Amino acid sequence: MRQMSSVTVVGGGLAGCEAAWQLAQRDARVTLLEMKPQDRSPAHSGDNMAELVCSNSLRGASLSGAVGLLKEELRCLGSLLMRCADETAIPAGGALAVDRDRFSRAVDEAVSTHPLISVERKRLDTLPADGRMVVATGPLTDSEILQSLREHGAVLSYHDAIAPLISAESIDHTVVFRADRYEETGDGAVYLNCPFDEKSYMEFVRELVGADKTPLHEFETAPFFEGCLPIEEMAARGPLTPAHGPMKPVGLIDPRFGNRPFAVVQLRPEDAACTSYNLVGFQTRLTRGEQGRVLKMIPGLGNAVFERYGQVHRNTFVDAPRVLDDRMRIVSAPHVSLAGQITGVEGYVESIASGLFVGMAVAAELQGLDQDLPPPTTAIGGLIRHTRKTAGNYQPSNVVWAMIDHPRKKRGVRKRDHRLSAANTALEDLKTWMAHS
Ligand SMILES: Cc1cc2nc3c(=O)[nH]c(=O)nc-3n(C[C@H](O)[C@H](O)[C@H](O)COP(=O)(O)OP(=O)(O)OC[C@H]3O[C@@H](n4cnc5c(N)ncnc54)[C@H](O)[C@@H]3O)c2cc1C
Repeated sequence: MRQMSSVTVVGGGLAGCEAAWQLAQRDARVTLLEMKPQDRSPAHSGDNMAELVCSNSLRGASLSGAVGLLKEELRCLGSLLMRCADETAIPAGGALAVDRDRFSRAVDEAVSTHPLISVERKRLDTLPADGRMVVATGPLTDSEILQSLREHGAVLSYHDAIAPLISAESIDHTVVFRADRYEETGDGAVYLNCPFDEKSYMEFVRELVGADKTPLHEFETAPFFEGCLPIEEMAARGPLTPAHGPMKPVGLIDPRFGNRPFAVVQLRPEDAACTSYNLVGFQTRLTRGEQGRVLKMIPGLGNAVFERYGQVHRNTFVDAPRVLDDRMRIVSAPHVSLAGQITGVEGYVESIASGLFVGMAVAAELQGLDQDLPPPTTAIGGLIRHTRKTAGNYQPSNVVWAMIDHPRKKRGVRKRDHRLSAANTALEDLKTWMAHS
């Protein structure tokens, strides 16, 4: 294939690395600009590109889940980041979790050594008037480049929060028990469970709701993302809300008493060596002092040592249906495409998918091809179509089955079987689309 014109990709995060890789694999020459290590967002701390800023989980692996299907589609489409995720996976029950350092190192190395990608560690502040460009600066895109984007249309935002990490050594193993929901208990299991009885749960929730929170200075009116609510916001909606949400005890038996606890906090390992653990679903905006006090009320965490405190952050995205066309190009500046979370997709896997789609779309455009969108029966097709939803009321979203065209479930068919069948259709349709793209 002839070598095509060059493209600048701004932001070496999940979407930017995937987009750069897809472009280069299709013979485009890519300059990838990444502002780390000179500049960092408040959530980034490592030097490698493709940093996972919070959880190390790429969520459910099963094809019956929309995100499981999306991951499988990305594998079929030759995603670099999925390959690196599979190579650096660590045990996580039914989820795909990775060793975050090995993952970002693997992506960084692959991208940096690609003969058609030149990585420049510098920051871009304004969008140039010409030159083909993909902007993938993420949900924490800062003021200068944001100002540039504002000139091209609506920029929206909401609040999001991350969960704390604690060191494995500080967990009291005489209290917590090892078990995966509905599955293995004991040594083979991945999760540690901190069991509550009703009394200790109610006291804990009371303290959680009353604890001091960090103020939301900027963007005071921006709402929280419903899929990632701080645990104290959830508890404020009703004392039993967390027990029906991330603290639900279903499928878990405490081996000390042979019964189901009233509620649990699940701890998921962060690395293959299990040296630190993430409090699953415990994203929080309590002040650090209050996290140290209240979260130590969790059974088994009385001496917890925090390796990272939970925190709240602003999350920026554009009003995609108004600002972007269906190939993610800015309508008023079509030499610029956006990719990743800034387009209003939500989550690591969704950001990778967005980067992959934009990389493919820009490559097709440079080759003078008119590529169809991926079929609406696929998860990636559904996700891209989500960004075409109602302008003015556009909300970011994880990939969900509601986005994917699939037949109604027949009576008597189990939901899981129904979705597995829809997933098989999606993968067939994707292969047909790939053969014609
Ligand atoms: C704090 C936080 C926690 C999150 N936790 C989770 C989670 O647990 N699970 C989940 O699925 N999703 C989570 N998300 C959401 C989302 O999936 C991730 O933010 C994801 O990394 C988004 O991918 P991206 O490529 O769009 O942006 P990023 O991965 O953030 O990449 C953006 C890159 O652009 C670089 N950059 C920014 N501006 C410039 C510039 N002007 N010039 C050059 N380089 C620049 C940055 O340094 C960064 O490397 C979280 C988001 C945040 C902010």
